[in-house]
Amino acid sequence: MTEHAGEASTSNFIKQIIDADLKSDRLHDKRWAPPPATASDLAHAAPDSARIRTRFPPEPNGFLHIGHAKSIWVNFGMAQQYGGVCHLRFDDTNPEKESQAYVDAIIDAVRWLGYDWREGDQSHLYFASDYFEVMYQFACALIKANLAYVDEQSAQEMREHRGTLTSPGVNSPWRDRAPEESLERFEQMRAGHHPDGAMALRARIDMASPNINLRDPVIYRIRHAHHHRTGNAWCIYPMYSWAHPVEDALEGITHSLCTLEFEDQRPFYDWTLNTLAELGLLKRPLPHQHEFARLNMSYVVTSKRKLLQLVQDGHVSGWDDPRLPTLAGLRRRGYTPSAIRLFCERTGVSKANSRIDYSVLEQALRDDQDPVAPRAVAILDPVKLVITNLAPDQTIICQAPRHPHLPELGQREFAFTRELWIEREDFMQEPAKKYFRLYPGNQVRLKYAFVVTCTGCVTDPTGRVTEVHAEYLPHTRSGTPGADALKVKGTVTWVSAADAQPAIIHLYDRLFNEPYPDAGERQFLDHLNPDSVRTVNAWLEPGIDLSTPVWQFERLGYFAPDAANCTAQAVVINRITTLKDTWATQTQKS
Ligand code: ATP
Ligand code: MG
Repeated sequence: MTEHAGEASTSNFIKQIIDADLKSDRLHDKRWAPPPATASDLAHAAPDSARIRTRFPPEPNGFLHIGHAKSIWVNFGMAQQYGGVCHLRFDDTNPEKESQAYVDAIIDAVRWLGYDWREGDQSHLYFASDYFEVMYQFACALIKANLAYVDEQSAQEMREHRGTLTSPGVNSPWRDRAPEESLERFEQMRAGHHPDGAMALRARIDMASPNINLRDPVIYRIRHAHHHRTGNAWCIYPMYSWAHPVEDALEGITHSLCTLEFEDQRPFYDWTLNTLAELGLLKRPLPHQHEFARLNMSYVVTSKRKLLQLVQDGHVSGWDDPRLPTLAGLRRRGYTPSAIRLFCERTGVSKANSRIDYSVLEQALRDDQDPVAPRAVAILDPVKLVITNLAPDQTIICQAPRHPHLPELGQREFAFTRELWIEREDFMQEPAKKYFRLYPGNQVRLKYAFVVTCTGCVTDPTGRVTEVHAEYLPHTRSGTPGADALKVKGTVTWVSAADAQPAIIHLYDRLFNEPYPDAGERQFLDHLNPDSVRTVNAWLEPGIDLSTPVWQFERLGYFAPDAANCTAQAVVINRITTLKDTWATQTQKS
């Protein structure tokens, strides 16, 4: 498995880029001052002690999901590997959809994943909104240099005049207005003299450029909206494509790693930074943008809009519903940070878009937890097994390793008594072919205890089995000499009815029953899996410590106590995943 992981990390082309940059003198004379650092702030600043700087730039308009985990892993991971620093920067330039609650949830998720934006006593947690004044000044400088103008066309007119992939755009009638006039207008925009959409500030580049993003892109728009951090101080907000390179530069980012859909924006990213450097506002070396493929996963949706719809329409219980691919949901489901990081490593970083099967995430959890998760027995669909040759007050203490490969964890002890709980599917009145478990006349081993001979069962008037009967063979006790002399084909797990702990277990499955629920024109809500959760009243072996994050229940899979939902009356446990990929077996069968 580690071999596979190694392969994935060597295919990480971003490392090749960073290696080459560090060898060349691209980052020569890189200095550092706390953001927002303009050229004048850096003129006398000390050399940057970080070899590289990356950033994870979420917009606080939703919860993070597994795709963001990939971006976090790439950005923080590269910084760690190269003696660099990764900033956590909130790209909060879109006030209507953003909120402090999302900021808090994102901080929590990044920290949970195991990453830190502190470097000694410096915290590299930043907000784009802290740069609004500098950005505004930069925009004014562009206007004065006749590199930006206030356009008073309507949004509709701008769209119509933008041209297409095959035809050039048409210059705006406002394109050649005097810089002083644009500046005055821009000041009025800031002062709130104009309604939303009345005018916008555009970079003055080339309406005939083959790259539509260079056809005088809008860089500031009017939005009379309350911002969760700056309140009503601003009613103009910078556009993402302009704000992003400026934010990167003001923070001294060396490698701005983003997803492929920004590839077409790179010429404008470079135009913005080079122009501001030529105007003497930014100091070189400037950040470079590099794109990698988004992480797409089957059986989930990761678009924030669709996640929000699932939450708002009540298809799930909230952003942290254990069936969602949000980090909050995966965490509650029981996924560990190390399993998610392993998943990111295995799926690698590439230039080509692809879909990762959901089973890769499940396998990462198994591989992460198999070596460490303590073992226990749980019975999910219980039926009573009565050991008829054991007296009601008789108790035989049995032992089992806490972990089969970690003897240092010691043994767990539990009682073998007359009444036990076993899985209903471990008994059949009329055995099917190749059925080796309990049926009248058959012998099986009760795991860590004795071989028993099934003698019959009791049924209710509907024919449903209410009790299974068996006799134990005292000389077959597990772990004693000669215990294995009697060969049996089936092994059955059990817990003593006398000391079993009750638990409510949520058996989660995939939220969608289609691998690509939102592909093409599909309505993703039509493909919700109606059986994505089943809740059972189970019995657990005594002594299960609910503060242990992940348990392997023998034969059943990996389970996590749902701490937030446990009450004094009820222990609530989530199944993270089964021991094997049950979806793969289903597909093979069908
Ligand atoms: P939105 O639709 O709101 O823009 P987003 O998923 O792009 O959603 P951001 O908050 O802008 O959300 O994302 C923060 C960072 O995470 C960006 O750099 C983005 O490229 C990256 N990112 C988002 N989704 C994925 C993904 N599926 N795989 C890899 N990186 C991702
Ligand atoms: Mg985005």
